[in-house]
Amino acid sequence: MAKSDKEPGASGPPVLQHRQMGKAKPPQTRTGLVRQARKINRALAEVYPYAHPELDFENPFQLLVATVLSAQTTDLRVNQTTPGLFAKYPTPEDLAAANPEEVEELIRPTGFFRAKTKSIMGLAKALRDEHGGEVPGTLKDLVKLPGVGRKTANVVLGNAFGVPGITVDTHFGRLVRRWKWTDEEDPEKVEALICEIFPKSDWTMLSHRIIFHGRRICHARKPACGACPIASLCPSYGEGEIDPSRAKKLLKYEKGGFPGQRLKPPPDYPGQAAPPMGAV
Ligand code: SF4
Repeated sequence: MAKSDKEPGASGPPVLQHRQMGKAKPPQTRTGLVRQARKINRALAEVYPYAHPELDFENPFQLLVATVLSAQTTDLRVNQTTPGLFAKYPTPEDLAAANPEEVEELIRPTGFFRAKTKSIMGLAKALRDEHGGEVPGTLKDLVKLPGVGRKTANVVLGNAFGVPGITVDTHFGRLVRRWKWTDEEDPEKVEALICEIFPKSDWTMLSHRIIFHGRRICHARKPACGACPIASLCPSYGEGEIDPSRAKKLLKYEKGGFPGQRLKPPPDYPGQAAPPMGAV
């Protein structure tokens, strides 16, 4: 690790305590930007060593369907819904041949259930008819599937196939703009810019860490700046609550002592598993 990677005088890991005053300056040069961005990534890696996709899945088909269902709802709601769906339709062939009304009922809790039923059944038919019942492992083939955009394709590639990918969702876009890595709003342009800052090997975990941070601490409306472990690196410190005790109350999931989104989280997840539908 380069000398400049740590705060002056710091001897421990680059996870920083709450700042007392002022904001970090936005990076002024390309080199400064790359250095600040990589420093934030390393700090996030210390804060979220267990970052992972927050959809429950056991194979690429399940992840693909769950990702499509996650539009306009929470991963928690999807995770509470998919066990019933996959128990009844475990393969693309099963889902392609399903009665649409039964699928609608099963996925109703995720919202937009008629449109989503069309999407996932269309997807299942394409997998059955054009890919031998398997999820293809390339971006080119994935984005040709009905209802699958670049974001969904990258989620599947990164997490089911180990192909590095940046996932620019609402949290990712908001946080990289707060950190002044870019002021672009278009997810594809953001993706291209961030890909230039980080080596490929960082892309998938970087995406998870940023999304974890956006969901737990750096919220859209009221970021918990006063409880943010990377506050001293952030040019937008103070955009949210800076009082430490009030900020602490804004923390979510394991950072706030609450259950997570996955019913079956990975073994290293330090928080509690999410409850099944209707349990709480
Ligand atoms: S919570 Fe505040 S200090 Fe932390 S990254 Fe977000 S805007 Fe910056």
